[in-house]
Amino acid sequence: MPGKILVTGGTGYIGSHTCVVLLQSGYDVHIVDNLSNSHQDVVDKIARITGKTPGFTRLDLCDKEVIYGFMKEHQDITGVIHFAALKAVGESWEYPVRYYHNNILGLLNLLNAMHESGCKNLVFSSSCTVYGQPDELPVSESAPLKKALSPYGNTKKMCEEIIEDHVTATSLNAISLRYFNPIGAHPSALIGELPLGVPNNLVPFLTQTAMGKRECLKVFGDDYSTPDGTGIRDYIHVTDLSQAHLAAIERLEKEKNTQPCEVFNLGTGSGYSVLDIIRTFERVNEVKVNHQIEDRRPGDIEKVWANPEKANRELGWKARLGLEEMLESAWKWEEALAQKH
Ligand code: NAD
Ligand code: UDP
Repeated sequence: MPGKILVTGGTGYIGSHTCVVLLQSGYDVHIVDNLSNSHQDVVDKIARITGKTPGFTRLDLCDKEVIYGFMKEHQDITGVIHFAALKAVGESWEYPVRYYHNNILGLLNLLNAMHESGCKNLVFSSSCTVYGQPDELPVSESAPLKKALSPYGNTKKMCEEIIEDHVTATSLNAISLRYFNPIGAHPSALIGELPLGVPNNLVPFLTQTAMGKRECLKVFGDDYSTPDGTGIRDYIHVTDLSQAHLAAIERLEKEKNTQPCEVFNLGTGSGYSVLDIIRTFERVNEVKVNHQIEDRRPGDIEKVWANPEKANRELGWKARLGLEEMLESAWKWEEALAQKH
């Protein structure tokens, strides 16, 4: 009988898609979110997709007493998937203390509250940013971690380390999932990514440009050592990513983990350049994207893609959807947003 899962940051982009698969798999779901980067109506959208309404509590994980009180009241929670964090790389350079405060303190309060209430299973949202520019590609989990390229990236690295130390000292079992580049949206176009202000990431900027909300997509550099000179990333469909969270929490709930603290790469194993993304988007959606080559963006790495074999083998999970499906769903989501406004 599946248990009750607490999803922190569950009204956000990846969290909302994960709530859908958890509910569809029979889990009870309770979301906590301070709504600093999402809207409460996402709860209704999740209910429309699944026919089940998750619990929702608006709270800030940085408020220690509140999360302690919440965990005490909800003793039936068997596992936590921790998405809640600030995530904008550029903004983290402007406000590093805000990023360290929110992402580190939020985790510390959550870990203590879980410990107090006896909740022993944690899945954590990490990122391939912990590898920096890897020496070898594809990058596997055993690759050395590099100095973070931003305060945001550093919070992910520090959180992984904190979790590892806490697992050593307590009976907590944890899985850190290192995402590559999540894009796309749910096929219903009811949930997706809602970037506030000007998007930093390629795909939301691209869809907004195609929609006419932005004039021109800047391609950051065409002089990298890649086949077409533009940067290469491993893009992964958010619905595939959400399935991996189900596999990870199930592994912990069924005590199938082989170590108390595990790490998995979540990517497709294939890398695509910025120009690949633009051309594929234009082809599958039959829309033009105005773009021009600009200077490199400071802090960008040249190329990275995952070796996802460990997740394939041990989580029994594999990314199934290709670039075309990712970019089709991203466009469908942008069109749905345009109809609302
Ligand atoms: P998101 O901003 O859409 O979702 C995060 C949610 O957390 C938001 O709803 C926000 O309101 C909430 N939140 C933030 N701080 C909080 C706090 N102190 N208390 C309660 N709620 C809080 O982001 P996302 O893209 O869904 O990312 C989810 C997680 O995955 C984050 O930890 C992010 O760092 C990580 N991640 C994201 C990407 C990506 O490209 N989207 C890549 C790698 C890792
Ligand atoms: N990129 C770009 N124009 C943009 C945003 C991103 O050319 O407006 C490029 C960026 O240089 C990188 C790729 O697209 O090569 C993915 O960038 P994103 O910010 O989405 O992810 P990250 O750099 O964090 O992997």
